Amino acid sequence: MTTNINMDAFWMPFTANRDFKNQPRIIERAEGVMYYTNEGQEILDATAGLWCVNAGHGRTEIADAVSKQLRELDYASPFNFGHEIGFEFANRLIKHTPASLNKVFFANSGSEAVESALKIALQYQKSRGKGGKTKFLGREMAYHGVNFGGISVGGLTPNRTGFGPLLPVDHLPHTLDIANNAFSKGLPEQGIDKAEALEQLIHFHGADSIAAVIIEPMSGAGGVIMPPQGYLKRMREICDQYDILLIFDEVITGWGRLGSAFASEEFDVVPDMITSAKGITNGVIPLGAVFVKDEIHDQIVNNVAVGGIEFYHGYTYSAHPVACAAGIATLDIYENEGLLNRASGDIGTHFENKLHSLKDAPKVIDVRNYGLVGAVQFDASVAANGPIGLDFQKGCYQRGVMVRTMGNIVAFSPPLTIEANHIDRLVNVLRETAEEMFG
Ligand code: PLP
Repeated sequence: MTTNINMDAFWMPFTANRDFKNQPRIIERAEGVMYYTNEGQEILDATAGLWCVNAGHGRTEIADAVSKQLRELDYASPFNFGHEIGFEFANRLIKHTPASLNKVFFANSGSEAVESALKIALQYQKSRGKGGKTKFLGREMAYHGVNFGGISVGGLTPNRTGFGPLLPVDHLPHTLDIANNAFSKGLPEQGIDKAEALEQLIHFHGADSIAAVIIEPMSGAGGVIMPPQGYLKRMREICDQYDILLIFDEVITGWGRLGSAFASEEFDVVPDMITSAKGITNGVIPLGAVFVKDEIHDQIVNNVAVGGIEFYHGYTYSAHPVACAAGIATLDIYENEGLLNRASGDIGTHFENKLHSLKDAPKVIDVRNYGLVGAVQFDASVAANGPIGLDFQKGCYQRGVMVRTMGNIVAFSPPLTIEANHIDRLVNVLRETAEEMFG
């Protein structure tokens, strides 16, 4: 491939920079579920950008709302000043959150939402006289963004090593169990017992030292790992028993990915806080949020004299009016087009059936899915020269499909607007690429 772009200055994040510059993949335009490259190639976006463009690309409704907002009120400080659209957006958001989570703290990204949630947890514990509860429990293979709190509770080794010392944390085991659950459709049957590790860690550290447990209801970046049946409910029970907050990081699972607005609703488990970002604005303007139980908010806010600042935390761009305008337009689309439940309908079933048809493709050891998210895992033996990820991703891209890879796992999370013929194209390309590379 050739390009005239000078690529010297931009240090690309989470990218093999030198490799990329030798073989650039430049996206020029997007529409619906398609990207178009600077060489005119059409690429099926099987990843919704980076798990975020849930309503598909090029939504003019959002562009119009953003443009209107920029002309009306481009920016105003969220510290001790307000603007109508921030309140309006918060009110709209909580129509979709569990009934007891009615407070919204705005950030600019998933990473910031996670940091905010961790700090809210600490502040809450302190304000109710439990200041000894300062530790967090995360989970192996978890991704909670890249800030220091997030990498502390996160469980992806390369993201942690090299950046310590980190916060005082411990980690639960992940729930990926190919030996017992390979080729599961939906939630795996085996593995509820893994939740018991939470009680063991609580006994080990002492409940009085633990502020909160944070988990992704479904781990995304760690390799699309579904919670075993009953696992999340058991986590909730144990947290209640030991007076520990439960935070669901729904940065990926929020906004329709699993067939409901949130995994919390889909799996009928209510956490104390939910972190959100990505699909909250269809990925088009950065915005993150924490949805907080009323009693947590009230405990913190009511504990301080009127006129006093209750929570020494916030961002210049918290509730940025332009991001709120994008978010409201996004919610309009989700609601008007029924997108938040689309993954649980026929399209989700088609996705599941087609994906599982790859069971006999070369070196496939697992296929797993829920709603409109799925993964195919290859045998580690194919990785003689290191993980296959980047090569497999390039192979699919050359064939006109964008996928996401982690080691020997290939993940898919298409826009919720995807149609059956796109899914067929994705699966054909996966099979062709696997046959070429490992056949
Ligand atoms: N939490 C989860 C579960 C994520 O998947 C991500 C990003 O993929 C983040 C947090 C971080 O979000 P951001 O990249 O917007 O900071």
